[in-house]
Amino acid sequence: SPASSAALISRADAYSAHNYHPLPVVVASAEGAWMTDVEGRRYLDMLAGYSALNFGHRNQRLIDAAKAQLDRVTLTSRAFHHDRFGDFCEQLAELCGMESVLPMNTGAEAVETAVKTARKWGYRVKGVPDGQARIVVAADNFHGRTTTIISFSTDEEARADFGPYTPGFDVVPYGDLAALEAAIDERTVAVLLEPIQGEAGVLVPPPGYLAGVRRITRERGVLFVADEIQSGLGRTGRTFACEHEGVVPDMYVVGKALGGGVVPVSAIVSSAEVLGVYRPGEHGSTFGGNPLACAVALEVIAMLRTGEFQQRAAELGDHLHAELGALVGGGTVDAVRGRGLWAGVDIAPGHDTGREVSEALMERGVLVKDTHGSTIRLAPPLVISKEDLDWGLTQLREVLGA
Ligand code: PLP
Repeated sequence: SPASSAALISRADAYSAHNYHPLPVVVASAEGAWMTDVEGRRYLDMLAGYSALNFGHRNQRLIDAAKAQLDRVTLTSRAFHHDRFGDFCEQLAELCGMESVLPMNTGAEAVETAVKTARKWGYRVKGVPDGQARIVVAADNFHGRTTTIISFSTDEEARADFGPYTPGFDVVPYGDLAALEAAIDERTVAVLLEPIQGEAGVLVPPPGYLAGVRRITRERGVLFVADEIQSGLGRTGRTFACEHEGVVPDMYVVGKALGGGVVPVSAIVSSAEVLGVYRPGEHGSTFGGNPLACAVALEVIAMLRTGEFQQRAAELGDHLHAELGALVGGGTVDAVRGRGLWAGVDIAPGHDTGREVSEALMERGVLVKDTHGSTIRLAPPLVISKEDLDWGLTQLREVLGA
């Protein structure tokens, strides 16, 4: 007989590093907004792989694109050209309203690439003295887990025991334009921000902040790098969260949903001037821009170009925020933040922790993720039906006793 959830969890515990604390559910299959565990129990996925599954599990168009590519060619390395690469770069640049693409695989790799690119641009174009480039980042950021990226994290859990740290970063409070402006000097090459801070609890900056960052960075000759890895590609009701303030940065960093929940695909997308700093041999990745990744991402881009997923996120998002907003002030929910189909729900002190609420929801067939102790993060696939969303929200209200 097939192994039980308990047996599979204990095997994972015995043979893997404990760098995660997953909910005790063992998924065996999934479709759309639903996952099924090894015992056949069904769960509504209200996390969607931290927005990597914006188009749902095993979206037919994406699976078809992947299968067709699997039957042709999957990997060439960048030592050779392949026939999907040019299309992918052209289509992604166009979706972003930019000129040039540098593909990688994971989000952290793309952020590393953004850091390297901004520094190189600083030395080669801006004229910053060698070795002195600085990048301004926000407190409570989350940009990934590499040694350089955690060097500018303010989360002790993410940093402790991983030093020595990479220098060259200035941390300012998120949402504070005066602090940001004061941190910029002639050595500053970039401001790197999440337009909405995801891991921090879906923190939306004050109105005018992104537009202010755009104005200041333009005036001071500094690149505005928007990490849209979690906020981008439809989640907030627009292709990019920056669009809510009519802002176009100098560089987008994208990942997660770009791979359609099928393969890891990330990229930085910028101007020809900025990406023009590279010469052969100066940066790369064996898997970055591989044929399978390009085939799936091309389908993702085609789906986003219809605008239907953004519209769905906007409409269902309005509904989600209306329903969640009604809970605020009732004693169990302190605050709700977010945009589109993305929300952070702060549970009032004295009630269950985020983990306890997540476990209770799991018992009722709804999967969410807690963050920072008392916040629940909701980010269902954009393909979720209104009925399923309402059912999930009913479970949340009942678990909270709201
Ligand atoms: N940047 C942001 C804004 C993210 O939310 C994440 C992941 O949650 C990352 C970067 C890192 O992406 P990855 O886990 O693919 O390295």
